[in-house]
Amino acid sequence: MSSVEPDGESTGLILHVQRLSTEDGPGIRSTVFFKQCPLSCRWCHNPESISAQPQLQWYSTRCMGCHSCVGACPSGCISFGPQGFLLDRARCDGCGACVEECPTNALELLGRRVRVDALAEELAKDRAYFESSGGGVTLSGGEPLAQSGFAIALLQRLKEKGIATALDTCGFAATEGMGQALRSTDTLLFDLKIMDRVSHMAFTGQPNELILKNVLLARTLREAGETGARLWIRTPLIPGATATRENIVAIGAFIAEHLDGVLERWELCAFNNLCREQYRRLGMEWAYAETPLYDTSQLDEISGWARASGVDPSRVAVTGAARAAYSRTEETRRS
Ligand code: SF4
Ligand code: SF4
Repeated sequence: MSSVEPDGESTGLILHVQRLSTEDGPGIRSTVFFKQCPLSCRWCHNPESISAQPQLQWYSTRCMGCHSCVGACPSGCISFGPQGFLLDRARCDGCGACVEECPTNALELLGRRVRVDALAEELAKDRAYFESSGGGVTLSGGEPLAQSGFAIALLQRLKEKGIATALDTCGFAATEGMGQALRSTDTLLFDLKIMDRVSHMAFTGQPNELILKNVLLARTLREAGETGARLWIRTPLIPGATATRENIVAIGAFIAEHLDGVLERWELCAFNNLCREQYRRLGMEWAYAETPLYDTSQLDEISGWARASGVDPSRVAVTGAARAAYSRTEETRRS
């Protein structure tokens, strides 16, 4: 859960910066996707972010089969079989020699090391749309606090530049680091996935006590005036895992009991399968590859459980892949 960076706070490993995002907090945002995550959610939608190391991926449609990469690899990790590119991931150290050699950009290294000052400068160039939209920078991932020193330093640099910040966290982080991060955070996007401890362990690989402790810390720091962070709770709606009536009602009851008055929004994020190709490119299996998206009536039913759970119903929002169809349903019902 602590930083593993060679230069401590000053250097971190990120995947990329997504500009003009409207999904990661208020307004229009630039989102920094961190590598590394302490959870292993079975449904993970960002498989490229789990590992703490740079990872190589191969695009079959760009590959012309020249095999230059095979000879370029100093560790002999690459071969080709009937299905195409084969990589010995256990031996690949992410040196990037094959990427340099590939003439068609069929290979890409996921993950780059950046210095905190350089990244803050890069992000400050987006100030125009932050200011016109009420947006800012969101730290997401992966789990930003898995590189806590770097994440906290980045939040502080951004605040020094007058840029609004958001932290998108799974909550499984050392409480001290969470507290430090919150003091430089304007919007906290906090995942509450599963309330039952055993089920949480089964689906994410970790228990949930620390997560619940950290979300209560956010409330405590708000009440003490040590952070002004507005609180958004986010729950991914995963068929058979998080999106059961029992779980949604339990999360709602927890929010109503402990976070009433500080909760701004409870976002139910509909399952999507946009990451299916990404799993394939990384040579990873995905248990949800054939799982269908929710239809509007299913989302209606799930959001109904949330709205009846004791949480202020006006705080509940549904986002994600079926959102457009869902919005039409809502409009029809109101008319
Ligand atoms: S160097 Fe690039 S184009 Fe050539 S075989 Fe390797 S991946 Fe394919
Ligand atoms: S990144 Fe380096 S070690 Fe990994 S396959 Fe390419 S050349 Fe080999």
